[in-house]
Amino acid sequence: MTDNRTWWERPNRVLLVNLREGDERAIRADELVRDVKSFGATAFCINGGGIVAFYQTRIPGHRLSTGLGGRDLLAEVIPAAHAAGLHVLARIDPSCAPSALAEGHPEWFTRDAQGRFCEVSGHYVTCPNGAYYHERMPDIVREILTRYGADGIWNNQGKFAAWDTGPCYCDNCRSLFRRDSGSDIPPAENWDDPVWRRYNEWRYARITDWVKRMHAVIHEAKRDAIFIAAVQLMESLETIRPGGWDIDYWVPYQDVLTFECQRRNSAPWWPGIQAKYLASLAPDRPRWMTASYFYPWWRLYASPETENRPWIAQQFANGVNTWLHLNGGYSDLFDRRGLAPMREVMQRLARWEPYFDGAVSDARVALVFSRHTQDNYGGGKPHARYLDFIRGWYCALMEAHIPFDVISDKIVDAQRLRRYGALVISNLACVSDETASAIEAFAAAGGGVVASYDAGIADLSGAERPQPAFARLLGGRRTGRRDGLKSSYAKIEDAGDPLLTGIGDTDLIPNEGNLVELAVDAGRIVPLTLIPPVIAHSGATISIPELSAVRETTSIPVAVRGQHGAGRVVYFCNQPELLFHRYGFPDLGRVLANAVRWVGGPGATLEVDAPDFVDVTLMRQPGRRLVHLVNFPVGKPVNSGWRQIGRNLVPVSDIRLRLPLARGERLKEARLASTEAALPARVSGGVVEVVVPRLEDHEIVVFELETSREEQA
Ligand SMILES: [Zn+2]
Repeated sequence: MTDNRTWWERPNRVLLVNLREGDERAIRADELVRDVKSFGATAFCINGGGIVAFYQTRIPGHRLSTGLGGRDLLAEVIPAAHAAGLHVLARIDPSCAPSALAEGHPEWFTRDAQGRFCEVSGHYVTCPNGAYYHERMPDIVREILTRYGADGIWNNQGKFAAWDTGPCYCDNCRSLFRRDSGSDIPPAENWDDPVWRRYNEWRYARITDWVKRMHAVIHEAKRDAIFIAAVQLMESLETIRPGGWDIDYWVPYQDVLTFECQRRNSAPWWPGIQAKYLASLAPDRPRWMTASYFYPWWRLYASPETENRPWIAQQFANGVNTWLHLNGGYSDLFDRRGLAPMREVMQRLARWEPYFDGAVSDARVALVFSRHTQDNYGGGKPHARYLDFIRGWYCALMEAHIPFDVISDKIVDAQRLRRYGALVISNLACVSDETASAIEAFAAAGGGVVASYDAGIADLSGAERPQPAFARLLGGRRTGRRDGLKSSYAKIEDAGDPLLTGIGDTDLIPNEGNLVELAVDAGRIVPLTLIPPVIAHSGATISIPELSAVRETTSIPVAVRGQHGAGRVVYFCNQPELLFHRYGFPDLGRVLANAVRWVGGPGATLEVDAPDFVDVTLMRQPGRRLVHLVNFPVGKPVNSGWRQIGRNLVPVSDIRLRLPLARGERLKEARLASTEAALPARVSGGVVEVVVPRLEDHEIVVFELETSREEQA
């Protein structure tokens, strides 16, 4: 069978070789190509232009890198790479330019509220609405693509407020925002102000407009070149939100959907959530993600191997290919200790390439993420009000080894939801009418829904709805709200309830935060009720032991479950996922996972007996299912700090796995990708059971399947 796909539609492993000005002196094209090849990479990305040119540009004012000394890096490197079968992307950066250019083109640059330029390292930050972005950057990419034949362009930092400067108040931005909204750009961030929320949305739209323009220019210049712009999700909110980055709007203008994933002051599973999000955004498109060799901000210092291995593994386990980012490799002083392990990881991924080609998620559970809720409900406290809810769910599902997707609310519709058995709408406060209807219809037709707290109270702009969405779905009428429930509990009404499976000998579990009071519809079951705060006086940092007695129980529901049409629904009136994220109470994770299992309905699902720090994904290829096991580092240092680095990858022995087969499906063979050795398998009642003898960092359990002819017909 011939493969008609372009190179970038096939599996890839990319090296991002990020140069510092002056590195050129140490570069020889043949050595660079050999080095890239030693990582088992298929392509690499190297600096082109923007802030400085690493080639002999003919564009006036496009400053040549001082390290070039008459050489032309792109002219040396690209032909050598192509001769060796490697593809090359050129990196550009539109975010700032030499301050001297402001004399001829003051309109290229961002202004603060007082009209001043925003200076960073002798450069001024440029405006994404200005001609520097919209005319100068197209000139640069045309030059790179037509004169040097680069295979694509990767853009860094195309955004507002680059390098942590503030909003742009240049004349162009002011008049464009007035044209689009009828208002002036607000003087300061104020999420209670509808004009500020409008301005926030406008930033996303303006950056999308630029991404669209660059995509068109690049394809005009070189039809088969690809365009990728840097963007991230969730865990880097303080830069992506003021920057105006929402990848959902870029899908038509990105050839390979790609997230950056470099900073480490974030959740250790950040690669996983980003990879899941990309996979649901574009299931039929290639997807890439960066991973840094170094430890930001110490770019010359290697990230611990114990962190980088699972960091990269999570990407491939969720259907995404890695760009390994090296910066400073040409420095005299450099930490080389991570190079050999990363070569080994990348070469193993090259061997495993057949297991990644065209693999898609086979998860039956989806966690909905809403950028509008993050912004227009989360406002000035986006973590406490929304993102920590999503984080809590991510951890609960991961620890329970329930394979799941993360899906944007913007793409939720009947067709997308069809493959899922359960949908989690964690505190999905801002929701459109269309999305709310699709979710209700999904449940009515037999789908499971787990919701919590303020789900459905606002429209996308953050304006409160006169009638909350989901009222019928959640099974009750909101009658009030209780805040400040520190040191309260949820009382277990029935330990035999499916939400409490495995809870053991306890009458209560912890509760905190806020709770929606609900008048419950007939036919719904309330397995958990509120025990009000057990505390001597509010505001105390610790409760008085002698006075910490439960004075009252209530019939106020904490969790409600029941049927909606043919589907099952659980509504948590409180914020258990937030509490789980903050404190890690295992029972809260257990209840959340139980809720997902119950709404998913009867029938076997993948079960994995492994410690909570083993991440599990389920992928599918024609005739094959693949269970990825990713071992997370454990053992935190006891010193406090910026973020605790995971220090130890502890091998796990004898992981038992039970995979239900579809009707008519028969197991041909189970084996381990690491050894390609067959695994003894037992099939009973339509379920395959295998035991993985040992997990080091990353393993794929491969199930080769065949479907009987009657089933195919
Ligand atoms: Zn501007």
